[in-house]
Amino acid sequence: SAKETRNGWKRYETRMNLKAKEKLLLENDLRMALELGQFYLAYQPLVDLQSDTLVGAEALLRWKHPQKGVIPPSEFIPLCEENGFILPLGEWVLRNACEQMMRWRGAGFPPIILSVNLSIRQFRQHDLCARIANILADTGMQPQWLELEITESIMADVAYATAMLEQLKKLGVRISIDDFGTGYSSLYYLKRFPIDKLKIDRAFVNDVLTDRNDAAIVSGISAMAHNLELKVTAEGVENEGQVAFLKGLKCQEAQGYFFSRPVPPEEFVALYETHRNK
Ligand code: C2E
Ligand code: CA
Ligand code: CA
Ligand code: CA
Repeated sequence: SAKETRNGWKRYETRMNLKAKEKLLLENDLRMALELGQFYLAYQPLVDLQSDTLVGAEALLRWKHPQKGVIPPSEFIPLCEENGFILPLGEWVLRNACEQMMRWRGAGFPPIILSVNLSIRQFRQHDLCARIANILADTGMQPQWLELEITESIMADVAYATAMLEQLKKLGVRISIDDFGTGYSSLYYLKRFPIDKLKIDRAFVNDVLTDRNDAAIVSGISAMAHNLELKVTAEGVENEGQVAFLKGLKCQEAQGYFFSRPVPPEEFVALYETHRNK
């Protein structure tokens, strides 16, 4: 009846309001979190498979919420992308990661590649290069040790992506394509873009020993990367068998729980230490 419909609609409306309210609360929390220093970066090693040495670290954002504990990025980054907060937050990540690397370098650790995730929203900022140049100048970080991880989504606007990637290249930073294989990529542009590396999505690496399709995809991406003279990193490596498979493909680099989970900077020092002694 009409009454039921109205009640049904009312309930729905209330739910929507709640959702919007929750979002607003979370947005407020995010802004406060940045001011109060509740964000930190965890670092996960990138390992060279031939020499078994540490060659890089990926910075991964964490939110240490006073009540809720450590919140993973999957629970707040989508909202940050939606409301634009990813712009100040992403800039904080870049600066913080560069500062950390310079502290490690200052403590006598050898240089390794520092990988930082760049949101498509950041990539679309016309003054992105100037912002990065400022961070490099302020921190003393050398551009050739900084790697920006972007996703295939940049290919939606080829003209813009080409121009931006060329600017970034001029700045001297490295570019890698993250989660490779999950998005839409034109192989034609892959060759023409000034890209340094493909990171094979962990969805493919995960089942590489049991799923023939995934094995074919990983080996195909690896071969293509070699032919295009791009480096390749396998993400989400969790066991010895996967390592052996990847070595067989001459895949240079790997990252995953088999080597280490992402760890806070204090713990990363220990991984760095073993590398220095090798
Ligand atoms: P991603 O860039 O693909 O990062 C790799 C994710 O895989 C990380 O999740 C990492 O903890 C996880 N991982 C690494 N090795 C393994 C493994 O062996 N097995 C499994 N199951 N997982 C593994 P995390 O830290 O939760 O980050 C999730 C995503 O959030 C990232 O995926 C990235 O897209 C985004 N993200 C994280 N930090 C930032 C940031 O500073 N800026 C932006 N824009 N996005 C970020
Ligand atoms: Ca990444
Ligand atoms: Ca990834
Ligand atoms: Ca699979």
